[in-house]
Amino acid sequence: MIYLDNAGTTELSKSALDAMMPYLTREYGNASSLHSSGQRSKEALETAREDIAKCLNASPREIYFTSGGSESDNQAILSAAELGAKKNKKHIISSKFEHHAVLHTLKKLEKQGYKVTYLDVYENGIIHLDDLESAITEETCLVTIMFANNEIGTIQPIKEIGEICRKHGVLFHTDAVQAVGHINVDVKDQCIDMLSLSAHKFHGPKGIGVLYAKQGILLTNLIEGGAQERGRRGGTENIAGIVGMAQALKDAVKELDEVSKQETKLRDKLIESLGKIPHSSLNGDAKLRLSNNFNMCFEGIEGESLLLLLDDAGICASSGSACTSGSLDPSHVLLAIGRPHEVAHGSLRLTLSKYTTEEEIDYVIKKVPEVVEYLRKMSPVWDELEKGKKQHIL
Ligand SMILES: *Cc1c(COP(=O)(O)O)cnc(C)c1O
Repeated sequence: MIYLDNAGTTELSKSALDAMMPYLTREYGNASSLHSSGQRSKEALETAREDIAKCLNASPREIYFTSGGSESDNQAILSAAELGAKKNKKHIISSKFEHHAVLHTLKKLEKQGYKVTYLDVYENGIIHLDDLESAITEETCLVTIMFANNEIGTIQPIKEIGEICRKHGVLFHTDAVQAVGHINVDVKDQCIDMLSLSAHKFHGPKGIGVLYAKQGILLTNLIEGGAQERGRRGGTENIAGIVGMAQALKDAVKELDEVSKQETKLRDKLIESLGKIPHSSLNGDAKLRLSNNFNMCFEGIEGESLLLLLDDAGICASSGSACTSGSLDPSHVLLAIGRPHEVAHGSLRLTLSKYTTEEEIDYVIKKVPEVVEYLRKMSPVWDELEKGKKQHIL
């Protein structure tokens, strides 16, 4: 199996699994218990918190463990909204192509009377800083813009966004689930007030993540319960998950330069080779994107059929986000960068990892054009395009 769906989730590394094993077996004490077994779990918990803080250039007090990226996004946004409401500030700025964990939380707030401005991301998948600055008003309580997009991999000018927010005294949250462990993240240098991350996107386990919130930001609880996470998130801590996440993040940060160099080389090979398929087009900026992200539209085909045939050929690919696949709506991300509906349906996302080899990529480069050609031969839409009854878009 050739696994190229690493933006969906990644393989748990051996190193993370090894770190977790004791806490899945003999070290099962509850970190809130006073006996020595509990205290060993508590120690593992706090060491993991320190390690993760160091990787982000944060302080351990600013790290809150959650169940993953979605929960962190929800808690960050709802906390900022509640803080804003206290000062009669009920305006939020975001972008059109955020993850649904952000977009659906914002929709909920809109129903409660908040106003949300969704910034355009233009054809290259990157916001304009002027648009951001002119959208900020006296009522703005939060800017939430993702670090890197999960479908097309484009990277936002995070530091510049952070600086603008700081200048105007507005809280800045970033969904950095695709960025952490893949590109350099430094919450101080990049002026980030709140940040979401998730372990399973960097070879850690599923169901565990972090919300970083700068000291002084009062979080709203999503889960009431015990005094865990300084009273901000109840529930017995998932020590094995937390320890595995910390190990995976330390590894990812250490290997970052080397891995991204290798991924960039393979990604560019994909872009160059598959870009030769007639009537195809890369989605998102070619350079300002994650080193592991390839996303292209092929005219005249259905992305879903392409995926199924690639699966038959042993290739795990995706047409976009894991959450929208299976639904017939075209990706909101591709629509946001201006792809018309009929083109947005024919997308292919291939996301690499440190385990991806050149042989695998060479096989994909051979297979994808064959499958695209096969599908086009059977497509009535393609027939119309070829006969000139319809105009090519790409
Ligand atoms: C995967 C992902 C999430 C959701 O994270 P979970 O840990 O699966 O809840 C949120 N945002 C982005 C950008 C993602 O890629």
